[in-house]
Amino acid sequence: MNFGQYVIVTFILHALFFFSIFEIFLTSPIITGLDSLPPKNHRLAKRAVIVSIDGMRHRTFVLKKDDGELRAKHILNRACKTGVYAKSITQLPTESRPGHVAFLGGFGEDVSAVMAGWKKNPVPFDTVLNQSRAAWAFGSPDIVDIFSEPAHVTGITYSEDLEDFSTSNADYLDTWVEKQFELFMQEPPASVNQPGIIFFLHLLGTDTNGHAHRPKSSQYINNVDVVDNIVQNVENIVNKFYGDNETAFIVTSDHGMTEWGSHGSGSKDETVTPFVAWGAGIKHNNAQSCHSFLDPAHEKIDQIDISPTISLLLGNSLPANSIGIAPFSIFSTSSKNLHELKVTNMRQLWHQYEAKSSSSGISYPKISYEKLLQIENSDTLQTEFLEDVVNGIQFHHKALRPVLSFIVISMMISWQLVSVGLSARFLVDDVRRPKFSMLFFVIAALTILGLTIHYRLSVRNSLWAFAAMWSFYYSSYYCKTVFQLVKSSKPLVVLKLFFGVSFVAFLTTLIFNYRWLLSLVFIIFPFFNAFIAARTSKYSRSLIASFGILSIFPILPTIADSGIHRWLVVATLIFGTICFQQSSFSSRLQTKSMLSILLWMSLLSQTLICISDLFSVKPPDLSTYISWAVFFLSWTNPFLECQDVRCRFHAISISCLTVYCLLSTFYEGIFYIVLVWSLGEWIAVEIPLSNFNSAKLKENSMLFSDVGKFKKDDLRRSLVFIFFILMAFFGCGNVANLNSFSPSSILPFVHVFNPFLRGFLLFFKVILPFLPVCVAFLIIIRLLNIPFTAIFHFLVVFSDLMAFIFFFKVRDGGSWMDIGLSISYFSITLLMFLSLTLLMCAAHLMTHKKWKIRPFSN
Ligand SMILES: [Zn+2]
Repeated sequence: MNFGQYVIVTFILHALFFFSIFEIFLTSPIITGLDSLPPKNHRLAKRAVIVSIDGMRHRTFVLKKDDGELRAKHILNRACKTGVYAKSITQLPTESRPGHVAFLGGFGEDVSAVMAGWKKNPVPFDTVLNQSRAAWAFGSPDIVDIFSEPAHVTGITYSEDLEDFSTSNADYLDTWVEKQFELFMQEPPASVNQPGIIFFLHLLGTDTNGHAHRPKSSQYINNVDVVDNIVQNVENIVNKFYGDNETAFIVTSDHGMTEWGSHGSGSKDETVTPFVAWGAGIKHNNAQSCHSFLDPAHEKIDQIDISPTISLLLGNSLPANSIGIAPFSIFSTSSKNLHELKVTNMRQLWHQYEAKSSSSGISYPKISYEKLLQIENSDTLQTEFLEDVVNGIQFHHKALRPVLSFIVISMMISWQLVSVGLSARFLVDDVRRPKFSMLFFVIAALTILGLTIHYRLSVRNSLWAFAAMWSFYYSSYYCKTVFQLVKSSKPLVVLKLFFGVSFVAFLTTLIFNYRWLLSLVFIIFPFFNAFIAARTSKYSRSLIASFGILSIFPILPTIADSGIHRWLVVATLIFGTICFQQSSFSSRLQTKSMLSILLWMSLLSQTLICISDLFSVKPPDLSTYISWAVFFLSWTNPFLECQDVRCRFHAISISCLTVYCLLSTFYEGIFYIVLVWSLGEWIAVEIPLSNFNSAKLKENSMLFSDVGKFKKDDLRRSLVFIFFILMAFFGCGNVANLNSFSPSSILPFVHVFNPFLRGFLLFFKVILPFLPVCVAFLIIIRLLNIPFTAIFHFLVVFSDLMAFIFFFKVRDGGSWMDIGLSISYFSITLLMFLSLTLLMCAAHLMTHKKWKIRPFSN
């Protein structure tokens, strides 16, 4: 296999590895094409009114006024006198769409929605609304439109412009709904008289007030009174219109809200919401508990259980994908009908279980059809069996994960064999030609084939087995080479190497969550380096100092959390400019004047922004022109610089600094300077100073050179390079910061909001500190004659080791942020080898001698 082939196959296999997480972990729990079963019970209510108070947390809902009276007086009185109150425990993530899907559709978030940017459910699903005879939904278009369905559900919504977060009080969103309902009931269509209908009112006022003013505000708290009045009015209108006491009322919420006005994660304030039900079919059974709403032991209900409750009350079919179990104790009906209610709920769950289990080759021993019949015919149907069926559904949903994970991981491990096998020629002298090992291939292929047949993998899943065999085919050529490599070295050395590299890979994955570990690495490193590196036996004081200062940055608060202090950037630029003018190396730079101009321009632009900020005026357009001029001119400079390696490194670093400072809002510039200083010290430790000073760029040198050996010391150097890359990434922020990138940091470039430009500049800001790191490493491998091809193999193996760890940490539950982060960690590490190679190519271009053009003929 030649190098080009290797790169192509590596790329394809890594793309497959990336997409495998969407096939294995982030799969939809929804079974498509499932028909709904006809109900077996009698209806308990003719119609239901469902009120959803968006973003209402339990704690605030049961608050009392100063005079001791309940805020939600009417609703809670109904709960105490004729109905039930329970804490509804929501699903994760605590967001509006998943919350409503949970209590109307009966299942938790469909994680495959991540592909659609969490905007909508990617698969059509069933709800209580479209299982009703007819339904009318009033409220926000964001929610109502998800559930509208021309045949059954009529949506009545306001325009999106009405949802204004800057208003002083958003309860007009709720009174709008009340008004529309009133108008609707004045001239309703004839279909409102049929049984099995639903009125759904979505009240967004509380959520908007909570976000804008926080839940402690009078706006959020008083909104409870507003909602209470609306519910009372709606109840009066309905009762007056029908006059038959056949209406069931349900009041609940999609999610709660934190003290600081957010939701999404799993804190109590976000997950505990009210559930109140009264009217037709509802038993009055918690008279005592209605005075102790704040009692932690108060009755609880799962949010997804509300969905079957509504359907059973109305005698409608249950939503096809609902995995809820109705709280049967709240129904007021005969014991015979109660039994039928349970059977309806059980049959619908069993229907899903059958569909799920037929597609999986694994059996779930706890339940069987015989047992179902036996329980169905018994007088006292216990709900434990229903829970077993739900567990069975979830078991089958995840059943194939271990098998598929095994296949995908074995595919990647076998590719590691190829990488190691190919780099063998850089490690030992006499490497045998690769020879196909039939034994290895047959054993590996038969194992995968056996798994495919045993677990009856679908055609789609069998594709992974096929990809694995493809990878085995290549690794069969190299397994003997790897075996020879292991045999030729001492067993202890191999073990030490294997565990050492695996440990470092594990350590680097921890840095993604704990930035301070990076500080530890950089404090320890100079001593460790002196200890391990054979050539540099003495401690370098300036190395210890620079690494020590660099290690401070990961323990500082991230830039996104610490706000904007632009004057510090100005100070950094002044300091940088003075140092540059005074330093000894600058006199050797041919383009000294050019760099000085760039620094002064950058300084001027930032100063203009600061001054306009001081007087609260719009920054002058001049700063924008200057910034863009710096942005483009800075790229010409490194290419124009002298052919002395040291000059080129400094010229590139300072060029990048001028742009980086323009994108900075706080201490990023200082971080960058310390980073470059440390890199300089690192080069000085690795390369004798005389070599470094006199080293010239080579003519026509190739990046992917095959010449040279890869020694143990080069492994250490490569690891230092990776830690420097992590420092460049985590020094001022973390992965989560990428989302919360402040628009003010691009102020020197654009004044108006432009998402595309903003994304581009953010990407640029992240990339910039990587460049000096790559240039420094390139200088080291050039001057020490380390073959980059060997380093490429190492990068593939190392980034895969990290990706394996993050593969098993991909989450399919929790907040959107948790799920999104777990995916980004996996993809960042998986593609690390690729992005670093591209960056090294960029560094190679920048340090290439060919670019040398004399700008000034002096
Ligand atoms: Zn919200």
